[in-house]
Amino acid sequence: MNTSQEKIKKIKLALLDHIYRIYEEDIVPDDTACKRGCALCCTRNVTLTGLEALRIAEHIRGKPEYRAALRNAAEKKRFRPVCTFNQIAEICMRGGDFPEEEIDPAWTPCPLLKNAECSIYPIRPFGCRCMISMHSCAENDYAEMSEFTATINDVFLQYIEHIDAGGCFGNLTDMLLFLEDENRTADYPRSIPEELPEGLIPNHPLKVLMVPPEFRGKIRPVLQKLEKNAPDNAH
Ligand code: SF4
Ligand code: SF4
Repeated sequence: MNTSQEKIKKIKLALLDHIYRIYEEDIVPDDTACKRGCALCCTRNVTLTGLEALRIAEHIRGKPEYRAALRNAAEKKRFRPVCTFNQIAEICMRGGDFPEEEIDPAWTPCPLLKNAECSIYPIRPFGCRCMISMHSCAENDYAEMSEFTATINDVFLQYIEHIDAGGCFGNLTDMLLFLEDENRTADYPRSIPEELPEGLIPNHPLKVLMVPPEFRGKIRPVLQKLEKNAPDNAH
C-alpha cells in the first residue's frame, strides 16, 4: 500500500471514531438498559462495513479460538443482507419494493461472544453500538427503542457506509473470514475482488437520508455535528 492510501485509510478510521464518539456522547441515553456484559442481542446477524471490520480482523488474527468460532458460525444460518443502508434509502425515495431478506433473532450466538461477553467490546461495530434498549431485554424478552433513535441509527449507518464507499458491507462472520488474509486488510478497499464472496455486497455512496419529515428539525443539530468532519474529506 502506498503512502497516500495509508493516509486515506487513517482519515477514514478517524472519521469512524468521530461518528462513534458523537453517537456515544450525544445519542445513547443515560438511562439505557444496555451495558457491557448484556448479550442477549449478540446474534449471528450483525452486519458491518469492511472499514469497521479492519480493526477487528487485525485484533483476532492468528488467534485459533476466533478462527474456530468463525468457521463454526459460517456453517450456520445468519443474516446476509442483499441491500446496504444507502440502497434502502434510495429504494424508499423511489417508492420501490424491498427485496426479501431472511433474518431470525434466534440465530445466536455471535462468534465474538466469549463467556457471555463481547470479546472485542471497545472495537465493536456500529451495528452493535446502536442496539440500545430502554428496558432490559432479559426482563421483557424484547428491546424497546424510540422511532427517533431508530431514525438516528439509520442516518449514522448511512454515513458510515458513505465513508467506506468503494468498500463492502455484509454479515460479520462473512466479513471477518474475507479479511482473514493480512494482505486484504492492508490493502482494503483496493483488495476487494470484482466478484465478492457470498454474504458481502458493495457499499454505496449516500444520496438521500432516511429521515421522516417529523424528525427533520430535531435531527438537524446531529447532522451538523456529523458534517463538521464531512465524510467527503476522506475521498
Ligand atoms: S439491546 Fe437488550 S440485550 Fe442488547 S445490550 Fe441492550 S438490553 Fe441488553
Ligand atoms: S461483536 Fe460483540 S457486541 Fe457485537 S454482537 Fe458480537 S459479541 Fe455482541
